[in-house]
Amino acid sequence: MSIEERAWAGEGHRSVSRNSLNRNCRIDTKAVHAGAHPVQSVTHPHVHPIYASAVFSFESLSQLDEVWEGKTPGYVYSRMKNPNVECLEKAVAELEGAGEAIAFSSGMAAITLSLLAGLESGDHVVAARVLYGATRSILVNDFPKRGIQCTFVNILDLDEVRAAMKPETRIILCETVSNPLMEVADLEALADIAHRGGAMLYVDNTFASPVLCRPIDYGADVVLYSATKYLNGHDDVTMGVAAAAPGLCGGQRGSGVSGSIAEKLRYLCVNYGATPSPFDAWLLMRGLRTLALRVNRQSENAFRLSLFLKGHPKVSRVYYPGLEDSPHYLQARKYLGGHFGGMLSFEVASGLSGATRVIEHLEMVKFAPSLGGVATTVSHPGKTSHRSLSEDERRQAGISDGLIRVSVGIEDFKDIRADFEQALQHA
Ligand SMILES: *Cc1c(COP(=O)(O)O)cnc(C)c1O
Repeated sequence: MSIEERAWAGEGHRSVSRNSLNRNCRIDTKAVHAGAHPVQSVTHPHVHPIYASAVFSFESLSQLDEVWEGKTPGYVYSRMKNPNVECLEKAVAELEGAGEAIAFSSGMAAITLSLLAGLESGDHVVAARVLYGATRSILVNDFPKRGIQCTFVNILDLDEVRAAMKPETRIILCETVSNPLMEVADLEALADIAHRGGAMLYVDNTFASPVLCRPIDYGADVVLYSATKYLNGHDDVTMGVAAAAPGLCGGQRGSGVSGSIAEKLRYLCVNYGATPSPFDAWLLMRGLRTLALRVNRQSENAFRLSLFLKGHPKVSRVYYPGLEDSPHYLQARKYLGGHFGGMLSFEVASGLSGATRVIEHLEMVKFAPSLGGVATTVSHPGKTSHRSLSEDERRQAGISDGLIRVSVGIEDFKDIRADFEQALQHA
């Protein structure tokens, strides 16, 4: 008997034996039931397979009770828990030194729901003035309608941060490395200000990745990722992760909105329906395996590119925290573990027209407004991430029309340099 026939005869997987298929059933029925779970093996798959199953089946009501209550390991429904998503969450929690990590269908889902998990109507947020555009937009346009106010500060000015704290402040929100000028936040000092004020520190660590910085080590309470970027690293997944410090996890299982931050996060993710798909979680696991290799190489290439650009006559300024004359150099040395990341920006001296020509003449390097992939890409902050600001606001934020942001990839550095060298001739 072949494995398939045995499964047919009810000797295969338990769920097959429970509902073995009658050989005489009709084609419509066969189409639904044939071929179920034929694989039995004493060896294990070396790589976690994809559990593309929206639901899991039970032997009995009592088994459902046990699984539901967490007394027996098992899964019920993939929006609530899925092996691939769970595997990814465990991996990120381990990388991060977190008590628990929760995966979301995008970085924005992770950010907005994490904020909602820590806030109620009447609460207040102190946030960095320079933030990812959509994050800022939620704080400016959506949260006030829910009774949540936000004060924006220069996050590098600790006195300004302290002065913005109110009795109702629950969260300080910042990015480890800001976009597009690569300013590095003083996480330890910000955690201290937050905790003294009875608030939590939330850090969007997307640009740094856990290879360079683990904010929980510096006192952060919740670490946020657009996993779309470095964690995945191949520009083929949209996903987010929130990781909670060990002290903010646990509590009663299923306590939902009244539990720890991790419990609330889980509750909001599951019930607002922000769970990622098993396929995406699987791809992200695959990306994660090479995270350290990629980020180290990207950091090395970015450092070399920053030196090249700094010496180029058509470039008026380079923003990279690894440059010794960067105002963020010392802070970056402290927080980025001796590397400085794969992100840099530079100003073309001839302004918008020069930047336009550079972007148009780059050949290998594509103009793609995302970051963190294996291929080097460029973006134009003025036209993309900071498009919604007025010209005045952009100038105040230090974002000139000639500014180009580079997400440096893992190619051979000589090829990256050659492409920028030829493109800059047209600036
Ligand atoms: C891309 C990005 C986000 C948003 O993540 P999505 O996966 O696009 O939802 C948030 N923060 C930072 C710093 C980002 O770069």
